[in-house]
Amino acid sequence: MTHDNLTHRPAVSVLGLGLMGAALAKALLDAGHPTTVWNRSTSKADPLVAAGATRAETVAEAVAASPLTIACVLDHAALHDMLDPVAGDLSGRALVNLTSSTPEEARATAAWAAENHVEYLDGKILALPSTVGSPDAFLLFSGPPDVFTTHEPTLAVLGDTDHLGPDPGLASLYDLGLVGVMFGTITGFLHSLAVLRAEAVDAGDFLPYATQLIGALPAMVADIADQVQTGEYGGRDAQLNMQAVFVGHMVEVSEARGVDPAFPAYVKGLMDRAIARDHGRDDVGRLLEGLTVPARAA
Ligand code: NAP
Repeated sequence: MTHDNLTHRPAVSVLGLGLMGAALAKALLDAGHPTTVWNRSTSKADPLVAAGATRAETVAEAVAASPLTIACVLDHAALHDMLDPVAGDLSGRALVNLTSSTPEEARATAAWAAENHVEYLDGKILALPSTVGSPDAFLLFSGPPDVFTTHEPTLAVLGDTDHLGPDPGLASLYDLGLVGVMFGTITGFLHSLAVLRAEAVDAGDFLPYATQLIGALPAMVADIADQVQTGEYGGRDAQLNMQAVFVGHMVEVSEARGVDPAFPAYVKGLMDRAIARDHGRDDVGRLLEGLTVPARAA
């Protein structure tokens, strides 16, 4: 990047310099944005100030320093502890909130922003702090498309970006959906490690096989998405009658080895209920119906 480009980068203020907020501020600084930083515990600003950031003594001072403020704190309550007192200072400026939240919290913050004449974009980061600023990081945004378009060149410094639509709750909804996919996979992996460890198999010995299977997941989830979208669940490659037996083995071997069987037992319960509803010849996409409360009760 040339010096000329650096001097034309818009100023940004970053509120919250925990692990993620500090990584955001550093990426903005590295890209040449004049960056003002504030954190409740002031010492967390020190390394960033040493790297060229401007320290704000107060939240109001930080907000006043830039047309765009990026907030990234622990949760919704922390966000409003920090921002409610400076709503008037934010008026007429843009706020991008990268704090994790529920969709309801994101919509409430958007309503608060509208009442206070703040241009608001809700965003979620799908990345570890160490990957912020690289193509491995991706960020999802929702809220007014024009606010996204205006600030996208700045936000793109943090990672790949996508705008999901005008409903400010969408980024949270997708984020939680993706976290669900992540923790489902991680919990299954940990459960399997516990079973294997009971027979003295090393995690490292199992890892290449788990990795190979995870490599097949994109095709599997694409097939499941197709089943759900078309409503055609007929098991072409695998059917619930067979899969329930297989998952039943996992429950059995877990119990026999003193491993909590709750994870496979939950999956088996979904399968058993679908089979009881006469869906035994369907594939796993059919389990979606059993995940809504009325269907489970049926
Ligand atoms: P963190 O290291 O625990 O930092 C939390 C930040 O919130 C600190 O700056 C803390 O200030 C601030 N804070 C807490 N309560 C506050 C309050 N009442 N008023 C003002 N500031 C307050 O957490 P993090 O990892 O940076 O995560 C920040 C956000 O990024 C979270 O919403 C998280 O879900 C999201 N995120 C994190 C990751 C990750 O891998 N770290 C990945 C994706 C998304 P003090 O320093 O003064 O305590």
